[in-house]
Amino acid sequence: MSAAHALKFVPAGEFRERSATAVGDAHLRQSFRGAMDFLIARRAAQFPDPAALERQRRLAEHIRKYTLARLPELLEQLEGKLTANGIQVHWAETPAEANAIIIDIARRHATRLMVKGKSMVSEEVELNHAMAAAGMEALETDMGEYIVQLDGEKPSHIIMPAIHKTKQEIARLFAAKVPGAAYTESVDALIGIGRAVLREKFLAADIGLSGVNFAVAETGTLCLVENEGNGRMCTTVPDVHIAITGIEKVVHKLAHVPPLFGLLTRSATGQAITTYFNMISGPRKPGEHDGPREIHLVLVDNGRTQAYRDEQTRATLQCIRCGACMNHCPVYTRIGGHAYGTTYPGPIGGIISPHLLGLAGTHVLPTASTLCGACGDVCPVRIPIPELLLRLRVEAQHDARPGQPPLLGQGAAQSRLADAAWQAWAALYARPGLYRAFGWLATRLRALTPSRQSAWTLSRTPLKPAPQTLHALMAARRKR
Ligand code: SF4
Repeated sequence: MSAAHALKFVPAGEFRERSATAVGDAHLRQSFRGAMDFLIARRAAQFPDPAALERQRRLAEHIRKYTLARLPELLEQLEGKLTANGIQVHWAETPAEANAIIIDIARRHATRLMVKGKSMVSEEVELNHAMAAAGMEALETDMGEYIVQLDGEKPSHIIMPAIHKTKQEIARLFAAKVPGAAYTESVDALIGIGRAVLREKFLAADIGLSGVNFAVAETGTLCLVENEGNGRMCTTVPDVHIAITGIEKVVHKLAHVPPLFGLLTRSATGQAITTYFNMISGPRKPGEHDGPREIHLVLVDNGRTQAYRDEQTRATLQCIRCGACMNHCPVYTRIGGHAYGTTYPGPIGGIISPHLLGLAGTHVLPTASTLCGACGDVCPVRIPIPELLLRLRVEAQHDARPGQPPLLGQGAAQSRLADAAWQAWAALYARPGLYRAFGWLATRLRALTPSRQSAWTLSRTPLKPAPQTLHALMAARRKR
């Protein structure tokens, strides 16, 4: 098990240590820089008209806010419609509950193998470990997820899980771990090797599991966005399909999906549309030749209701998981996803992980930001990420105010030293004479500040263009 695999909470010291190691790894930085520059350029090409983009973002924000304002009611409507369509709905408050529901379904079907489409919520609840502990195999079938699973790692990006790996690293991995695979640096050949393995697994699997991008309340439809076709295989070939998603993924009407879908794919991979858009509205009907005979949806809370309770932090749940905030974050692009130690890295991780895991274990994450504002500027649903990062920094330092429901782990980063420093600063700032004297003294003491470049500063110097990663190449191939 890799270090990234074992981490659930993020002690500040460990985060700083991993960040420093990542910043000192020129190869990793170059890979990330190249991949992120590629994604940034692809996204920018999709939005040539800033005014049009702003109109689309405002519409998407409005749809997400409207949905969240009616979330409980829409979840009930969704459940009613899905049930009427023959889909069984389960509710899980915690990761343990979600895993227990899925394992129970799997046991009832004497499952040996589950094939999985991409699902960050299944990563969040650590389903693969729970399945293994219950004696069943859960195999990732998204190519990036398959690669990181084969290497005992966690995804380093929510859209492109293996973006930290070069094709040479994947070639070595396949040669070492895929029976009969010869070493090759041909991207097409590597994809072919992975597909040959997975094709057999789709046919052998007892259960297919997928995530959900949008769950439509008015029709009881589960929408799934993907590029590789593995999601469709997972949701149509095995006899049982289990979908797992966070409770915030509901939308009211089918008409709300296209504006969100268009922004999701453009923001995530710079595609106007993905190769596949699956709409699942019920199990196989008599006379139909394919499709699962049984479909389940597991709706996961895991801290989302905490974010929902407060009007400001509720905006966190607007997220459609496009990853654009990560691609544009100067911290994420320097340290990569594994340094964060959580399922969701980067700016979105900074604002959602404290709700999923509690501030006690994650208060360092909202501080992993320069507050440059790039994340908020590119977010397709206009989440005010910098403001939320600041809010969580404050909550980590203070107990809940009277009448305010406490956040899990609230006040965990309280420090007498920090309090004293801020009090001293406030006193100084309130007295102009004292403040001027302090400024005069500080200028005289400037010579004592470190003169050598830190690892962080060094990382901001331009790097040579990076070799394309496997995923960047795959995306380019798909474009042809
Ligand atoms: S916070 Fe915004 S930019 Fe970041 S993943 Fe979510 S929707 Fe995308």
